[in-house]
Amino acid sequence: MDKFDYMKKHSYEQIVYFYDKTTGLKGITCIHNTALGPALGGTRLWNYECEEDAVLDCLRLARGMSYKAAAAGLNLGGGKTVLIGDANEVKSEAYFRALGRYVQSLNGRYITAEDVNTTTKDMDYVHMETDHVVGLEGKSGNPSPLTALGVFHGIRASLQHRLGDNDITKYSFAVQGTGQTGYYLVKLLIEAHAKKIYFTDINPEHVNKMKKECPDAIYVKPEEIYGLDVDVFSPCALGAVLNDHTIPQIKASVIAGSANNVLEDEEKHGNMIKDKGILYAPDFVINAGGLINVSHELDVYNKDRAIRDIEKIYDRLLEIFTIAEGENIPTFNAAKVFAKKRIETMMHLRGNYIPR
Ligand code: NAD
Repeated sequence: MDKFDYMKKHSYEQIVYFYDKTTGLKGITCIHNTALGPALGGTRLWNYECEEDAVLDCLRLARGMSYKAAAAGLNLGGGKTVLIGDANEVKSEAYFRALGRYVQSLNGRYITAEDVNTTTKDMDYVHMETDHVVGLEGKSGNPSPLTALGVFHGIRASLQHRLGDNDITKYSFAVQGTGQTGYYLVKLLIEAHAKKIYFTDINPEHVNKMKKECPDAIYVKPEEIYGLDVDVFSPCALGAVLNDHTIPQIKASVIAGSANNVLEDEEKHGNMIKDKGILYAPDFVINAGGLINVSHELDVYNKDRAIRDIEKIYDRLLEIFTIAEGENIPTFNAAKVFAKKRIETMMHLRGNYIPR
């Protein structure tokens, strides 16, 4: 991969490589766009097969964060850090403090947080060396219930747009995955007296927990979840679950869930869903609740204020659905148009110099 070509093609600002001999810390930070504010994105620790895979993952994730933050109405840009290593071997106080020093060297252009294989405890070590870190112990807390809350409001918006009524009591749901986010989503749907809820999971512990706590929710086998006769299919497990094999099975009018990168091929499967008359709530818009919540740590954290911001996912999705309809494009493409427009507008707005 020619990195400069890739950066040019997708308008990246910066790639930073770092290596700390003492701790073995080896990583890359990518900053995609900072037009709206400092780039925020978690630190992922993964045993990548090669450097090329790590850079590509970092670049792709950083760009995703730009769109996610922009569509969420946040004054943040997109960035990401990937660390190359085995999570069972490399972690230590010194390792994460070394990371904190590299984050600090970017002088606030990039803010990190936890991600796959990094925890709030690790971020507390990062915090010993830099203030440019969020998701700390005792601050905004577990993001998953708030991601689920955003998904809940996103489902309401989708029902309003597609079926003209957002009253949860009238509808049936199929939730795929009852882990961190799916579990809380099922609870919210039950609280709202949803007509019927089906769920599935491949982890027997999660299935049993759900059956015990929510006896009215109906368990189905993982392969049965797509073809159910329901109003909403809610993917809350894996990526790439909307593909050539599954889309023809879906009977729901709305697809709206927490899972990231659910369209196996954004262009092809976004169009397939549109052609079937199904309304798809774009993943990076509907699942931004956790990001919105953690971004409130940059100010003095106030949960009520964070929740009010998360509720705005409802109006944002309605706006995106209107763009999709007006331009006759898939909703995923409309979400990107929406996000890019906000980034570009703010770039122009800041073109004139005003001292502060
Ligand atoms: P999780 O790992 O806690 O839960 C996922 C659940 O899906 C698990 O219980 C797992 O057993 C189940 N699962 C896996 N494969 C399955 C299959 N084939 N069929 C049925 N169930 C299956 O993860 P999570 O935090 O709930 O995240 C779910 C998705 O939402 C991920 O794509 C994640 O990136 C995305 N997301 C999560 C958050 C958050 O705040 N946690 C925020 C934004 C996006």
